[in-house]
Amino acid sequence: MYDVIIIGSGPAGLTAAIYSKRAMLNVIVAEKDYMGTGQISVTERVDNYPGLYGINGFDLGEKFRDHATQSGAEFYEGQAVSITRNKDIWNVEFADGSTLSAKAVIYAAGTSYRRLEVKGGDKQRISYCVVCDGAFYKGKTVAVIGGGDTALGDALYLSKIAEKVYIIHRRDEFRGNKSLQAQVLAAGNVEPIMCATVAEVKGDTKAEAIVINQNGDLREIAVDGIFCAMGSVPNSDLLKGVCNLDNSGYIKADEDCKTSELGLFAAGDVRTTPLRQVITAAADGANAAVSAEKYISGLVFGK
Ligand code: NAP
Repeated sequence: MYDVIIIGSGPAGLTAAIYSKRAMLNVIVAEKDYMGTGQISVTERVDNYPGLYGINGFDLGEKFRDHATQSGAEFYEGQAVSITRNKDIWNVEFADGSTLSAKAVIYAAGTSYRRLEVKGGDKQRISYCVVCDGAFYKGKTVAVIGGGDTALGDALYLSKIAEKVYIIHRRDEFRGNKSLQAQVLAAGNVEPIMCATVAEVKGDTKAEAIVINQNGDLREIAVDGIFCAMGSVPNSDLLKGVCNLDNSGYIKADEDCKTSELGLFAAGDVRTTPLRQVITAAADGANAAVSAEKYISGLVFGK
């Protein structure tokens, strides 16, 4: 039996592993993807992690992972499908039928992309990752859907590859930060289309056009590719009925990462938090590990 099972190997999970090992805990990190580091791995450039200005997201994830490995963290490849408690012991069951047990669980499974669900959207290729697919659109016309930091960052990335980039946002102002907005507007080949939503995707095996609804008017725009950056939804389905979630499915927990259940902690983007960044995920990992260590000490020493 372990002291702590960490679910997820993104910045929150890996930092929790580093801090757990510093607290001399017997810890295992369960990850659904072999050698995964979470969504940071498909971020082209990170400009706001202190001391590492401009680092590639994949490289930053690798640094976190190396650090956790060197700290002595153990890894386990498997997708958690249920988390249950039997008295003071937490049991995590995986898709292959295996089970791990621990005194505490730190849940750091992050979020998944919100999908574009429109007419025709199931047939054509809609990408959720510019780093993975952007290179296919050299000299072409693409559309980015969304108005947050991801959409702006994606538009900027694509502006260096594609000939023309539309950024389609449902409101009259972007949600993403002002500095990124300025860079996007300065790129020269990015055209924002505000107050517009995608009504339909046209094409056969590849996207050929999108139909947008702008203030009630339908308009067709020819595009070769579509990148969806409409934010994320929490990967918390397996905790429904296990601990308290908010209306959007985020796990209710404060800065100490304690959930409504003793011995179950939530860290990173999956937790209710005012800011979802690499740095806040890493901070959560540290807080969750310290909270878990305090909880386990109480269990062990009966405090
Ligand atoms: P986000 O901030 O939640 O933005 C999602 C965008 O998609 C919003 O503009 C939203 O519109 C739009 N949207 C959501 N559902 C939609 C729908 N059904 N139809 C049309 N549009 C829809 O998500 P994000 O940009 O992925 O960022 C997530 C977090 O990561 C944020 O905290 C962000 O700051 C952070 N992040 C930081 C960086 C960085 O610092 N370099 C980079 C990437 C992400 P509304 O604006 O109208 O809600």
